[in-house]
Amino acid sequence: MTTMPKQYKHLFFDLDHTLWDFDKNSEISLRKLYDEYELAIRGIDDFDALFKAYNVHNDKLWERYRNGYIKRDELRWKRMWLMLLDFKVADTALAHELSTAYLEILPTQTLLVPHAKEILEHCKGRYEMHLITNGFETTQRLKLQYSGIARYFKHLITSEKSNSMKPHRDIFDYALGLAKANVEESIMIGDAIDIDILGAINAGWDTVYYNPYHVQHLRKPTYEITHMEELMRIF
Ligand SMILES: [Mg+2]
Repeated sequence: MTTMPKQYKHLFFDLDHTLWDFDKNSEISLRKLYDEYELAIRGIDDFDALFKAYNVHNDKLWERYRNGYIKRDELRWKRMWLMLLDFKVADTALAHELSTAYLEILPTQTLLVPHAKEILEHCKGRYEMHLITNGFETTQRLKLQYSGIARYFKHLITSEKSNSMKPHRDIFDYALGLAKANVEESIMIGDAIDIDILGAINAGWDTVYYNPYHVQHLRKPTYEITHMEELMRIF
């Protein structure tokens, strides 16, 4: 006996790294700041090393933020402060300035991951599409508007609005309630195995793990894809 594939009605996408090319957009933003604030003159002569340092600190601080150890503002300026410190620039005022400027520039960047737009166009009208993102309300809204994909989504569920964060179950339950969706007809599509995928699995959802870098893992997503266009075979 074969089981029929599930008939999904609601597709819930993660935003950063899944649809919106966070790495490239972040690099472009930081490079603008690098030039504008003349960081080369301050002794930071290697932009690539600076960008690498930023990512290391950003990832660590986000993990602390997700676990409730630090607040939003601390996350935002400390990633810049620690990045600068790696280059022996101990300048708190500059870190705050960079933090503010970065947050202004980043959400106005427009690069999407390959085939993201095609997939949204392909699914439009046949599914209801929503976003579940651990980002901030204003920032995520701006990203959607600038990159031209806001119109595809019915609900934007942010951690800020739902008062919960992936992988915690509350944000997934909140999302179902808001979309008036059942878990059986819903599926989560995301790039972070221990955040999007594990969280959704624990909430009883089907999942698509978008794994472009072939990360090794022991989870059991319903589907796993390397390229966004593979979603065409599923939906
Ligand atoms: Mg993501």
